[in-house]
Amino acid sequence: MANEVCFRTLHLDTPWSLESYESVGGYTVLKKIIAGELSYDTIIDELKLSALRGRGGAGFPTGLKWSFMPRNMPGQKYVVCNSDEGEPGTFKDRDILRYNPHQLIEGMIIAGYVMNATVGYNYMRGEFYEPFSRMEAAIAEAKAKNYLGDNILGSDFCFELYNHLGAGAYICGEETALIESIEGKKGQPRFKPPFPANYGLFGRPTNVNNTESYASVPAILQHGGQWFLELGKPNNGGTKIFSVSGHVNNPGNFEINLGTPFKALLELAGGVLGGKQLKAVIPGGSSSPILPADAMLDLTMDYDAIGKAGSMLGSGAVMVLDETTCIVEIAAITAHFYYEESCGQCSPCREGTGWMSRVIDRILNGEGRAEDLDNLDRIAGNIMGRTICALGDAAAMPVQGFLKHFRHEFEYMIEHKRSLVKG
Ligand code: NAD
Ligand code: SF4
Repeated sequence: MANEVCFRTLHLDTPWSLESYESVGGYTVLKKIIAGELSYDTIIDELKLSALRGRGGAGFPTGLKWSFMPRNMPGQKYVVCNSDEGEPGTFKDRDILRYNPHQLIEGMIIAGYVMNATVGYNYMRGEFYEPFSRMEAAIAEAKAKNYLGDNILGSDFCFELYNHLGAGAYICGEETALIESIEGKKGQPRFKPPFPANYGLFGRPTNVNNTESYASVPAILQHGGQWFLELGKPNNGGTKIFSVSGHVNNPGNFEINLGTPFKALLELAGGVLGGKQLKAVIPGGSSSPILPADAMLDLTMDYDAIGKAGSMLGSGAVMVLDETTCIVEIAAITAHFYYEESCGQCSPCREGTGWMSRVIDRILNGEGRAEDLDNLDRIAGNIMGRTICALGDAAAMPVQGFLKHFRHEFEYMIEHKRSLVKG
Protein backbone atom coordinates (compact mmCIF):
# COMPACT_ATOMS: atom_id res chain seq x y z
CA MET A 1 0.00 0.00 0.00
CA ALA A 2 1.33 3.46 -0.84
CA ASN A 3 0.25 5.66 2.13
CA GLU A 4 2.93 8.10 1.04
CA VAL A 5 1.10 11.39 0.92
CA CYS A 6 -2.04 12.09 2.97
CA PHE A 7 -1.79 8.98 5.15
CA ARG A 8 1.95 9.25 5.80
CA THR A 9 1.53 9.44 9.59
CA LEU A 10 -0.83 6.46 9.80
CA HIS A 11 1.84 4.00 10.96
CA LEU A 12 2.56 6.11 14.07
CA ASP A 13 0.92 5.66 17.49
CA THR A 14 -0.86 9.01 17.57
CA PRO A 15 -0.83 9.93 13.87
CA TRP A 16 -2.88 13.10 14.52
CA SER A 17 -0.40 14.75 16.89
CA LEU A 18 1.91 17.61 15.99
CA GLU A 19 4.87 15.52 17.13
CA SER A 20 3.96 12.72 14.69
CA TYR A 21 3.48 15.14 11.84
CA GLU A 22 6.80 16.85 12.49
CA SER A 23 8.52 13.45 12.59
CA VAL A 24 7.62 12.88 8.91
CA GLY A 25 8.84 16.35 7.90
CA GLY A 26 5.68 18.28 8.74
CA TYR A 27 5.90 22.09 8.73
CA THR A 28 9.36 22.04 7.07
CA VAL A 29 7.81 23.51 3.92
CA LEU A 30 6.25 26.33 5.94
CA LYS A 31 9.63 27.01 7.56
CA LYS A 32 11.30 27.12 4.12
CA ILE A 33 8.68 29.55 2.85
CA ILE A 34 9.11 31.83 5.86
CA ALA A 35 12.90 31.66 5.39
CA GLY A 36 12.38 32.93 1.82
CA GLU A 37 13.57 29.66 0.25
CA LEU A 38 10.39 28.95 -1.72
CA SER A 39 8.97 31.72 -3.86
CA TYR A 40 5.40 32.11 -5.09
CA ASP A 41 6.49 31.25 -8.65
CA THR A 42 8.34 28.11 -7.53
CA ILE A 43 5.34 26.87 -5.55
CA ILE A 44 2.96 27.35 -8.48
CA ASP A 45 5.47 25.73 -10.88
CA GLU A 46 5.96 22.71 -8.61
CA LEU A 47 2.20 22.27 -8.20
CA LYS A 48 1.67 22.45 -11.94
CA LEU A 49 4.52 19.97 -12.53
CA SER A 50 3.06 17.59 -9.94
CA ALA A 51 -0.18 17.21 -11.97
CA LEU A 52 -2.18 17.33 -8.74
CA ARG A 53 -5.84 17.37 -9.74
CA GLY A 54 -8.74 18.38 -7.48
CA ARG A 55 -9.51 15.47 -5.19
CA GLY A 56 -13.09 16.53 -4.43
CA GLY A 57 -14.29 15.04 -7.67
CA ALA A 58 -13.90 17.43 -10.58
CA GLY A 59 -10.16 16.79 -11.07
CA PHE A 60 -9.41 20.42 -11.95
CA PRO A 61 -5.60 21.10 -11.98
CA THR A 62 -4.75 22.53 -8.54
CA GLY A 63 -1.68 24.55 -9.62
CA LEU A 64 -3.75 26.26 -12.30
CA LYS A 65 -6.53 27.02 -9.81
CA TRP A 66 -4.05 28.58 -7.37
CA SER A 67 -2.62 30.71 -10.17
CA PHE A 68 -6.10 32.19 -10.79
CA MET A 69 -6.14 33.90 -7.39
CA PRO A 70 -5.45 37.64 -7.79
CA ARG A 71 -2.80 37.66 -5.05
CA ASN A 72 -1.81 41.26 -5.65
CA MET A 73 -5.34 42.63 -5.47
CA PRO A 74 -5.64 44.79 -2.34
CA GLY A 75 -8.09 43.74 0.38
CA GLN A 76 -9.20 40.54 2.02
CA LYS A 77 -8.83 37.18 0.29
CA TYR A 78 -9.86 33.78 1.65
CA VAL A 79 -8.73 30.17 1.63
CA VAL A 80 -11.57 27.68 2.05
CA CYS A 81 -11.37 23.93 2.47
CA ASN A 82 -14.28 21.79 1.36
CA SER A 83 -14.49 19.00 3.95
CA ASP A 84 -18.23 18.59 3.49
CA GLU A 85 -17.74 15.11 1.97
CA GLY A 86 -21.34 14.27 1.13
CA GLU A 87 -20.91 12.19 -2.01
CA PRO A 88 -22.40 8.76 -1.24
CA GLY A 89 -19.63 6.17 -0.89
CA THR A 90 -16.97 8.75 0.01
CA PHE A 91 -15.31 8.56 3.43
CA LYS A 92 -11.70 9.60 2.86
CA ASP A 93 -11.60 13.25 3.99
CA ARG A 94 -12.87 12.38 7.45
CA ASP A 95 -9.83 10.11 7.85
CA ILE A 96 -7.41 12.87 6.84
CA LEU A 97 -9.11 15.14 9.38
CA ARG A 98 -9.02 12.44 12.05
CA TYR A 99 -5.59 11.00 11.43
CA ASN A 100 -3.46 13.69 9.80
CA PRO A 101 -5.06 17.08 10.52
CA HIS A 102 -1.75 18.98 10.59
CA GLN A 103 -1.06 18.17 6.96
CA LEU A 104 -4.31 19.86 5.96
CA ILE A 105 -3.49 22.81 8.21
CA GLU A 106 -0.02 23.21 6.70
CA GLY A 107 -1.51 22.95 3.18
CA MET A 108 -3.99 25.71 3.97
CA ILE A 109 -1.33 27.96 5.55
CA ILE A 110 0.81 27.53 2.42
CA ALA A 111 -2.21 28.43 0.27
CA GLY A 112 -2.79 31.51 2.43
CA TYR A 113 0.83 32.58 1.96
CA VAL A 114 0.74 32.03 -1.80
CA MET A 115 -2.55 33.89 -2.19
CA ASN A 116 -1.90 36.69 0.28
CA ALA A 117 -4.91 35.53 2.26
CA THR A 118 -4.96 35.90 6.01
CA VAL A 119 -8.10 33.91 6.84
CA GLY A 120 -9.08 30.32 6.15
CA TYR A 121 -12.22 28.30 6.80
CA ASN A 122 -12.44 24.54 6.93
CA TYR A 123 -16.07 23.63 6.22
CA MET A 124 -16.94 20.20 7.61
CA ARG A 125 -20.18 18.29 7.48
CA GLY A 126 -22.23 18.48 10.65
CA GLU A 127 -21.85 14.80 11.47
CA PHE A 128 -18.04 15.05 11.71
CA TYR A 129 -17.81 15.12 15.49
CA GLU A 130 -14.46 13.32 15.90
CA PRO A 131 -12.84 15.00 12.87
CA PHE A 132 -14.00 18.37 14.23
CA SER A 133 -12.46 17.82 17.65
CA ARG A 134 -9.20 16.53 16.13
CA MET A 135 -9.04 19.61 13.91
CA GLU A 136 -9.74 21.94 16.82
CA ALA A 137 -6.99 20.29 18.88
CA ALA A 138 -4.56 20.42 15.96
CA ILE A 139 -5.26 24.12 15.34
CA ALA A 140 -4.56 24.81 19.03
CA GLU A 141 -1.25 22.89 18.77
CA ALA A 142 -0.24 24.75 15.61
CA LYS A 143 -1.09 28.10 17.21
CA ALA A 144 0.95 27.27 20.29
CA LYS A 145 3.97 26.73 18.02
CA ASN A 146 3.19 29.91 16.08
CA TYR A 147 2.66 27.99 12.81
CA LEU A 148 -0.73 29.70 12.78
CA GLY A 149 -1.85 33.11 14.01
CA ASP A 150 -0.09 36.46 14.02
CA ASN A 151 3.43 36.96 12.66
CA ILE A 152 4.01 33.30 11.87
CA LEU A 153 7.51 32.19 12.94
CA GLY A 154 8.54 35.81 13.39
CA SER A 155 7.57 36.90 9.88
CA ASP A 156 5.02 39.51 8.86
CA PHE A 157 2.71 36.76 7.55
CA CYS A 158 -0.48 36.24 9.59
CA PHE A 159 -3.02 33.47 9.01
CA GLU A 160 -6.06 32.45 11.09
CA LEU A 161 -7.90 29.21 10.48
CA TYR A 162 -11.47 28.41 11.60
CA ASN A 163 -13.42 25.16 11.54
CA HIS A 164 -17.02 25.54 10.45
CA LEU A 165 -19.64 22.80 10.81
CA GLY A 166 -22.39 22.45 8.23
CA ALA A 167 -25.86 21.14 8.95
CA GLY A 168 -26.19 18.10 6.74
CA ALA A 169 -27.16 19.33 3.27
CA TYR A 170 -25.42 17.53 0.38
CA ILE A 171 -25.66 20.66 -1.75
CA CYS A 172 -23.44 22.56 0.70
CA GLY A 173 -20.54 20.54 -0.72
CA GLU A 174 -20.96 22.52 -3.95
CA GLU A 175 -18.36 25.25 -3.55
CA THR A 176 -20.60 28.29 -4.03
CA ALA A 177 -23.39 26.83 -1.84
CA LEU A 178 -20.70 26.18 0.76
CA ILE A 179 -19.64 29.82 0.53
CA GLU A 180 -23.25 30.97 0.96
CA SER A 181 -23.54 28.66 3.97
CA ILE A 182 -20.44 30.14 5.66
CA GLU A 183 -21.95 33.56 5.05
CA GLY A 184 -24.93 32.38 7.10
CA LYS A 185 -27.33 32.08 4.19
CA LYS A 186 -29.33 29.16 2.80
CA GLY A 187 -26.89 26.83 1.03
CA GLN A 188 -27.81 27.36 -2.61
CA PRO A 189 -25.30 27.36 -5.47
CA ARG A 190 -24.44 30.56 -7.28
CA PHE A 191 -24.24 30.80 -11.02
CA LYS A 192 -20.64 30.45 -12.30
CA PRO A 193 -18.84 32.43 -13.67
CA PRO A 194 -17.79 34.43 -11.76
CA PHE A 195 -15.76 31.66 -10.14
CA PRO A 196 -14.81 31.97 -6.45
CA ALA A 197 -11.30 33.09 -7.41
CA ASN A 198 -12.90 36.36 -8.54
CA TYR A 199 -16.07 36.55 -6.46
CA GLY A 200 -16.07 34.20 -3.48
CA LEU A 201 -16.66 34.46 0.26
CA PHE A 202 -18.21 37.83 1.18
CA GLY A 203 -17.65 38.77 -2.46
CA ARG A 204 -13.87 38.54 -2.12
CA PRO A 205 -11.35 36.37 -4.04
CA THR A 206 -11.49 32.88 -2.55
CA ASN A 207 -9.70 29.64 -3.27
CA VAL A 208 -11.75 26.51 -2.59
CA ASN A 209 -10.07 23.10 -2.61
CA ASN A 210 -10.95 19.71 -1.21
CA THR A 211 -9.32 18.39 2.00
CA GLU A 212 -7.20 15.81 0.16
CA SER A 213 -5.99 18.44 -2.33
CA TYR A 214 -4.72 20.84 0.35
CA ALA A 215 -3.26 17.94 2.33
CA SER A 216 -1.25 16.80 -0.72
CA VAL A 217 0.51 20.16 -1.06
CA PRO A 218 3.07 19.93 1.82
CA ALA A 219 4.26 16.52 0.59
CA ILE A 220 4.59 17.82 -2.97
CA LEU A 221 6.64 20.83 -1.91
CA GLN A 222 8.75 18.74 0.47
CA HIS A 223 9.71 16.11 -2.12
CA GLY A 224 9.16 18.04 -5.37
CA GLY A 225 6.56 18.12 -8.11
CA GLN A 226 8.46 15.55 -10.17
CA TRP A 227 8.39 13.04 -7.28
CA PHE A 228 4.63 13.42 -6.96
CA LEU A 229 4.08 13.21 -10.71
CA GLU A 230 6.05 9.97 -10.88
CA LEU A 231 3.97 8.37 -8.13
CA GLY A 232 1.10 8.49 -10.61
CA LYS A 233 1.10 8.88 -14.37
CA PRO A 234 1.20 11.86 -16.73
CA ASN A 235 -1.68 14.28 -16.11
CA ASN A 236 -2.65 12.17 -13.06
CA GLY A 237 0.07 12.83 -10.50
CA GLY A 238 0.40 11.35 -7.06
CA THR A 239 -1.54 9.02 -4.85
CA LYS A 240 -5.30 9.05 -4.35
CA ILE A 241 -7.33 7.75 -1.46
CA PHE A 242 -10.00 5.36 -2.66
CA SER A 243 -12.94 4.61 -0.35
CA VAL A 244 -13.93 1.07 -1.29
CA SER A 245 -17.36 -0.14 -0.18
CA GLY A 246 -20.08 -2.58 -1.18
CA HIS A 247 -19.53 -6.26 -1.84
CA VAL A 248 -15.90 -6.59 -0.76
CA ASN A 249 -14.34 -8.56 2.09
CA ASN A 250 -12.28 -5.68 3.43
CA PRO A 251 -13.94 -2.29 2.83
CA GLY A 252 -12.01 0.85 3.75
CA ASN A 253 -9.74 3.63 2.57
CA PHE A 254 -6.70 2.79 0.47
CA GLU A 255 -4.13 5.39 -0.55
CA ILE A 256 -2.57 4.07 -3.74
CA ASN A 257 -0.75 5.51 -6.74
CA LEU A 258 -2.97 6.88 -9.48
CA GLY A 259 -2.73 4.51 -12.43
CA THR A 260 -2.86 1.37 -10.25
CA PRO A 261 -4.94 -1.38 -11.93
CA PHE A 262 -8.45 -1.71 -10.55
CA LYS A 263 -7.75 -5.42 -10.00
CA ALA A 264 -4.99 -4.52 -7.52
CA LEU A 265 -7.32 -2.18 -5.60
CA LEU A 266 -9.97 -4.90 -5.49
CA GLU A 267 -7.36 -7.28 -4.08
CA LEU A 268 -6.40 -4.76 -1.38
CA ALA A 269 -10.07 -4.63 -0.44
CA GLY A 270 -10.04 -8.40 0.00
CA GLY A 271 -11.76 -9.30 -3.28
CA VAL A 272 -15.47 -9.74 -3.90
CA LEU A 273 -17.42 -10.73 -0.80
CA GLY A 274 -17.87 -14.47 -0.41
CA GLY A 275 -15.94 -15.16 -3.64
CA LYS A 276 -18.95 -14.16 -5.75
CA GLN A 277 -18.69 -12.82 -9.30
CA LEU A 278 -18.13 -9.10 -9.81
CA LYS A 279 -21.06 -7.61 -11.66
CA ALA A 280 -20.31 -3.88 -11.87
CA VAL A 281 -18.56 -0.98 -10.21
CA ILE A 282 -19.60 2.60 -9.53
CA PRO A 283 -16.04 3.96 -9.70
CA GLY A 284 -16.18 7.53 -8.40
CA GLY A 285 -19.11 8.16 -6.08
CA SER A 286 -22.82 8.09 -6.82
CA SER A 287 -22.51 10.80 -9.50
CA SER A 288 -20.29 8.59 -11.65
CA PRO A 289 -21.91 6.28 -14.21
CA ILE A 290 -21.74 2.55 -13.45
CA LEU A 291 -19.29 0.39 -15.40
CA PRO A 292 -19.80 -3.34 -15.97
CA ALA A 293 -17.22 -5.80 -14.60
CA ASP A 294 -15.66 -6.66 -17.97
CA ALA A 295 -14.87 -2.96 -18.64
CA MET A 296 -13.69 -2.32 -15.10
CA LEU A 297 -11.30 -5.25 -14.77
CA ASP A 298 -9.08 -3.88 -17.57
CA LEU A 299 -8.93 -0.33 -16.22
CA THR A 300 -6.40 1.59 -14.20
CA MET A 301 -7.59 3.89 -11.41
CA ASP A 302 -6.92 7.39 -12.74
CA TYR A 303 -8.90 10.32 -14.09
CA ASP A 304 -8.08 9.72 -17.74
CA ALA A 305 -8.64 5.94 -17.88
CA ILE A 306 -11.96 6.02 -16.02
CA GLY A 307 -13.06 9.06 -18.05
CA LYS A 308 -12.23 7.33 -21.33
CA ALA A 309 -14.30 4.34 -20.26
CA GLY A 310 -17.35 6.61 -19.96
CA SER A 311 -17.41 7.32 -16.24
CA MET A 312 -15.36 9.47 -13.86
CA LEU A 313 -12.93 8.99 -11.02
CA GLY A 314 -14.83 11.62 -9.04
CA SER A 315 -14.15 11.60 -5.32
CA GLY A 316 -12.62 8.10 -5.46
CA ALA A 317 -15.58 6.32 -3.89
CA VAL A 318 -15.48 2.84 -5.41
CA MET A 319 -18.71 0.91 -4.91
CA VAL A 320 -18.35 -2.75 -5.76
CA LEU A 321 -21.46 -4.68 -6.81
CA ASP A 322 -21.59 -8.47 -7.04
CA GLU A 323 -23.75 -10.75 -9.19
CA THR A 324 -26.65 -10.66 -6.70
CA THR A 325 -27.20 -6.92 -7.17
CA CYS A 326 -30.42 -5.74 -8.79
CA ILE A 327 -29.43 -2.69 -10.83
CA VAL A 328 -32.99 -1.31 -10.84
CA GLU A 329 -32.83 -1.15 -7.03
CA ILE A 330 -29.49 0.67 -7.15
CA ALA A 331 -30.90 3.09 -9.72
CA ALA A 332 -33.95 3.76 -7.51
CA ILE A 333 -31.82 4.50 -4.44
CA THR A 334 -29.50 6.77 -6.44
CA ALA A 335 -32.32 8.70 -8.15
CA HIS A 336 -34.15 9.18 -4.85
CA PHE A 337 -31.01 10.60 -3.25
CA TYR A 338 -30.63 13.35 -5.85
CA TYR A 339 -34.36 14.12 -5.74
CA GLU A 340 -34.09 14.60 -1.96
CA GLU A 341 -30.94 16.72 -2.20
CA SER A 342 -31.84 19.03 -5.11
CA CYS A 343 -31.96 22.57 -3.74
CA GLY A 344 -34.88 23.36 -6.04
CA GLN A 345 -33.47 26.51 -7.62
CA CYS A 346 -33.65 25.34 -11.24
CA SER A 347 -36.59 23.60 -12.89
CA PRO A 348 -34.74 20.88 -14.85
CA CYS A 349 -33.12 19.63 -11.64
CA ARG A 350 -36.02 20.24 -9.24
CA GLU A 351 -38.64 18.62 -11.51
CA GLY A 352 -36.39 16.22 -13.44
CA THR A 353 -34.92 14.50 -10.38
CA GLY A 354 -38.45 13.92 -9.06
CA TRP A 355 -39.66 12.52 -12.38
CA MET A 356 -36.68 10.16 -12.65
CA SER A 357 -37.12 8.97 -9.10
CA ARG A 358 -40.86 8.37 -9.49
CA VAL A 359 -40.49 6.54 -12.83
CA ILE A 360 -37.79 4.20 -11.49
CA ASP A 361 -39.79 3.57 -8.30
CA ARG A 362 -42.79 2.70 -10.46
CA ILE A 363 -40.74 0.16 -12.42
CA LEU A 364 -39.43 -1.29 -9.16
CA ASN A 365 -42.99 -1.62 -7.85
CA GLY A 366 -44.01 -3.71 -10.87
CA GLU A 367 -45.99 -0.89 -12.47
CA GLY A 368 -43.53 0.04 -15.21
CA ARG A 369 -44.73 1.03 -18.66
CA ALA A 370 -43.19 0.29 -22.05
CA GLU A 371 -42.40 3.97 -22.68
CA ASP A 372 -40.70 4.51 -19.29
CA LEU A 373 -37.14 3.84 -20.39
CA ASP A 374 -37.24 6.25 -23.33
CA ASN A 375 -38.81 8.81 -21.02
CA LEU A 376 -36.04 8.32 -18.45
CA ASP A 377 -33.41 8.81 -21.15
CA ARG A 378 -35.18 11.94 -22.37
CA ILE A 379 -35.57 13.45 -18.89
CA ALA A 380 -31.90 12.79 -18.07
CA GLY A 381 -30.86 14.33 -21.41
CA ASN A 382 -32.97 17.42 -20.69
CA ILE A 383 -31.35 17.95 -17.30
CA MET A 384 -27.76 17.61 -18.55
CA GLY A 385 -26.02 20.95 -19.01
CA ARG A 386 -29.14 22.98 -18.21
CA THR A 387 -28.70 23.67 -14.51
CA ILE A 388 -26.91 26.14 -12.27
CA CYS A 389 -24.67 23.58 -10.60
CA ALA A 390 -23.29 20.10 -11.21
CA LEU A 391 -25.97 18.36 -9.12
CA GLY A 392 -28.26 18.24 -12.15
CA ASP A 393 -25.65 16.43 -14.24
CA ALA A 394 -24.75 14.28 -11.25
CA ALA A 395 -28.36 13.10 -11.07
CA ALA A 396 -28.71 12.52 -14.80
CA MET A 397 -25.40 10.78 -15.59
CA PRO A 398 -25.88 7.72 -13.36
CA VAL A 399 -29.40 7.13 -14.75
CA GLN A 400 -27.99 7.25 -18.28
CA GLY A 401 -25.24 4.84 -17.21
CA PHE A 402 -27.66 2.34 -15.64
CA LEU A 403 -29.76 2.35 -18.83
CA LYS A 404 -26.74 2.13 -21.12
CA HIS A 405 -25.23 -0.95 -19.48
CA PHE A 406 -28.18 -2.68 -17.81
CA ARG A 407 -31.24 -1.71 -19.87
CA HIS A 408 -32.18 -5.39 -20.13
CA GLU A 409 -32.75 -5.52 -16.34
CA PHE A 410 -35.20 -2.60 -16.53
CA GLU A 411 -36.94 -4.16 -19.54
CA TYR A 412 -37.22 -7.49 -17.77
CA MET A 413 -38.76 -5.87 -14.71
CA ILE A 414 -41.28 -3.90 -16.78
CA GLU A 415 -42.31 -7.04 -18.66
CA HIS A 416 -42.26 -9.61 -15.83
CA LYS A 417 -42.94 -7.34 -12.84
CA ARG A 418 -40.05 -8.89 -10.94
CA SER A 419 -36.29 -8.59 -10.79
CA LEU A 420 -34.15 -10.48 -13.30
CA VAL A 421 -31.63 -11.08 -10.51
CA LYS A 422 -33.71 -11.55 -7.40
CA GLY A 423 -36.82 -13.06 -8.89
P1 NAD B 1 -16.36 22.11 -11.79
O1 NAD B 1 -15.74 21.31 -12.89
O2 NAD B 1 -17.41 23.08 -12.17
O3 NAD B 1 -15.22 22.94 -11.05
C1 NAD B 1 -14.09 22.39 -10.52
C2 NAD B 1 -13.29 23.47 -9.85
O4 NAD B 1 -12.55 24.23 -10.78
C3 NAD B 1 -14.12 24.50 -9.08
O5 NAD B 1 -13.42 24.86 -7.91
C4 NAD B 1 -14.23 25.68 -10.01
O6 NAD B 1 -14.37 26.91 -9.33
C5 NAD B 1 -12.90 25.60 -10.72
N1 NAD B 1 -12.98 26.13 -12.09
C6 NAD B 1 -13.46 25.45 -13.16
N2 NAD B 1 -13.37 26.22 -14.26
C7 NAD B 1 -12.80 27.39 -13.88
C8 NAD B 1 -12.44 28.58 -14.56
N3 NAD B 1 -12.64 28.72 -15.87
N4 NAD B 1 -11.89 29.59 -13.84
C9 NAD B 1 -11.69 29.45 -12.50
N5 NAD B 1 -12.01 28.34 -11.79
C10 NAD B 1 -12.56 27.33 -12.48
O7 NAD B 1 -16.92 21.05 -10.75
P2 NAD B 1 -17.58 21.21 -9.31
O8 NAD B 1 -19.01 21.60 -9.45
O9 NAD B 1 -16.72 22.02 -8.41
O10 NAD B 1 -17.49 19.71 -8.79
C11 NAD B 1 -18.26 18.68 -9.37
C12 NAD B 1 -17.72 17.37 -8.87
O11 NAD B 1 -17.82 17.31 -7.47
C13 NAD B 1 -18.48 16.15 -9.36
O12 NAD B 1 -17.81 15.67 -10.49
C14 NAD B 1 -18.45 15.18 -8.20
O13 NAD B 1 -17.56 14.12 -8.46
C15 NAD B 1 -17.87 15.96 -7.08
N6 NAD B 1 -18.60 15.86 -5.81
C16 NAD B 1 -17.88 15.51 -4.72
C17 NAD B 1 -18.49 15.40 -3.49
C18 NAD B 1 -17.67 14.97 -2.30
O14 NAD B 1 -18.25 14.65 -1.26
N7 NAD B 1 -16.36 14.96 -2.40
C19 NAD B 1 -19.85 15.67 -3.36
C20 NAD B 1 -20.55 16.04 -4.50
C21 NAD B 1 -19.94 16.13 -5.73
FE1 SF4 C 1 -30.10 23.47 -7.05
FE2 SF4 C 1 -30.21 21.34 -8.67
FE3 SF4 C 1 -30.04 23.76 -9.68
FE4 SF4 C 1 -27.93 22.72 -8.41
S1 SF4 C 1 -28.82 21.97 -10.29
S2 SF4 C 1 -28.72 24.82 -8.23
S3 SF4 C 1 -29.02 21.54 -6.80
S4 SF4 C 1 -31.75 22.94 -8.46
